[in-house]
Amino acid sequence: MRYIDEFRDAGLARGLADKIARISTRPARLMEFCGGHTVAIMRNGIRRLLPPTIEMLSGPGCPVCVTSNSDIDRAIALAGLPDVIITTFGDMLKVPGSCSSLQKARAEGGDIRIVYSTQDALQIARDNPRQSIIFIGVGFETTAPTIAMAIVQAEKENLRNFYVFCQLKTTPPAMRALLDLGEIKLNGIICPGHVTTVIGTGPYQAYARDYGVACVVAGFEPVDILQAVEMLVQQIERDEPRVEIAYTRGVRPEGNLIALELMHNVFDTAGASWRGIGEIPHSGLKLKAKYARFDAGCEFNVVLPPAKEAPGCRCGEVLRGVIRPAECRLFSKACTPENPIGPCMVSSEGSCAACYQYGEYDG
Ligand code: SF4
Repeated sequence: MRYIDEFRDAGLARGLADKIARISTRPARLMEFCGGHTVAIMRNGIRRLLPPTIEMLSGPGCPVCVTSNSDIDRAIALAGLPDVIITTFGDMLKVPGSCSSLQKARAEGGDIRIVYSTQDALQIARDNPRQSIIFIGVGFETTAPTIAMAIVQAEKENLRNFYVFCQLKTTPPAMRALLDLGEIKLNGIICPGHVTTVIGTGPYQAYARDYGVACVVAGFEPVDILQAVEMLVQQIERDEPRVEIAYTRGVRPEGNLIALELMHNVFDTAGASWRGIGEIPHSGLKLKAKYARFDAGCEFNVVLPPAKEAPGCRCGEVLRGVIRPAECRLFSKACTPENPIGPCMVSSEGSCAACYQYGEYDG
């Protein structure tokens, strides 16, 4: 197939669904890690096309959702400092922290600007030399190279007023942490397409080898996802777990070596706190010592009270795949996209928001 329309072809999708139903004889629990996949699965009604032998769960693949309340509180506190302009991707604006959100902080007078790239944030820094520009760096390996590039560029231009509040996370340690928790027994993982474009398939080999979990990297169109499910079912039926790529038009096994080198030049790995999972060693990226002057976490001191979770919000369990969004008693009642209680209802890649939007209330 060469054109995107072919990956949306209803006949091809139905043919794959029929094949999956034919070959699937044993129960298979699959998890998509990536929030983009969660949205694509719900938007296209993929779960309803699959036989009852296959259970699909969503994982912690929305970077906004897994950002802990204490880190959101810190971003909001940074917005309250004098002569600071916060720059952020739009998804972060409405995410509730313990008591507030960046949107509320903006309504209260904070200078908080939505940007569409780190280049926009750099331009705001150039245009406002007397103010400190802090970019809220939330994302996975797909976002990390663009932030690394912005820091290298700021260094080259000797921009003294540009900072990053670095909350970048890496996906393989979180996958391993979920498998180690053992709360849910997975047979297969739909591995993230965009993240794997950067990191390659090497990190997944351990899941197949050590945990016996089938792994297939998928693209984001309905035929992509069904093809990945079909490949996973083939592996599970043969009891031969390994790592395969269904998304061959986007992913190479070695990843993007230029992006990886850039990331390794700018970041060190560090422990990071994930909502619902807790601290995971080596799952975060922090700026190397030579770039420490760009680190908003070091340069700006804010004192915060202990973080609080919203009463009744079960985002942590949703992110671990332990419950479906509709099992949270606040879902679609107290918690809606207009009045989100937890981040999973805010983000465009959040499971609760996707379930609400596409009516997947029955799971
Ligand atoms: Fe949290 Fe709302 Fe989802 Fe419940 S429905 S888990 S409160 S985001």
